[in-house]
Amino acid sequence: MAQTESVTSYTDDLHDLITRVRFVLWDFDGPICRLFAGHKADSVARELVRWLDGSGMRHMLTHEERRFADPYEVLRAVDRRCPGSDLVAEVEARLTREELRAASSAMPTPYADDLVLAWAARGARLAVTTNNSPAAARKYLRTRGLESCFGPHIYGRTQDPNLLKPHPHSLRQALAALGADPSDALMVGDGPTDLLAAQQAGVAFIGYARNDRKEELLREAEAEHIVLSLSEVLRGLKV
Ligand SMILES: [Mg+2]
Repeated sequence: MAQTESVTSYTDDLHDLITRVRFVLWDFDGPICRLFAGHKADSVARELVRWLDGSGMRHMLTHEERRFADPYEVLRAVDRRCPGSDLVAEVEARLTREELRAASSAMPTPYADDLVLAWAARGARLAVTTNNSPAAARKYLRTRGLESCFGPHIYGRTQDPNLLKPHPHSLRQALAALGADPSDALMVGDGPTDLLAAQQAGVAFIGYARNDRKEELLREAEAEHIVLSLSEVLRGLKV
């Protein structure tokens, strides 16, 4: 059944969800910050391709894959060719170094800091569930003074790209560590892969769309709750 009535404005259902939730799982890049606002993702992808070429690994990527603007696609492509190899581990480590650099010039998502603090002040337990390096997420949160709101609960990319979202691995890690029942939890994400992971983990989902393209993708994925600004959620917590 096609869903035709996605929600872009604040509703009673959304209010109930955000005020009753006890555990909030945050995607990092998007809902918390734009990680590659300063250090661009496409240049990171190009650099990875150049490094593969220079290491005699040109054959690892097809012509199309060499033109990827997304470094995560490069990682997935190498893993398809050589799953579980040292090469995958090396590409992952290089990507982590670039994410750590990017964390220094990331752009905070409007209202994200305040929303983290507001949920924490209400006693909600928070976790990050990201496809990025957990070290990069931790570095960014520390610079914003938000690390203590999350404590140890930052779950991100491992050396196995198959466990990236839409796989629910990071969400399940967070739920287990927090002792959380999925029905008491909510994920805030900005992409269809976040929604799929949330559905598989059995947690509710709010899609944050910072632009029309993101909104369209979330609508196509049939996200029930979509907000165009985190201020909508923040306002709800303060009512
Ligand atoms: Mg994201």
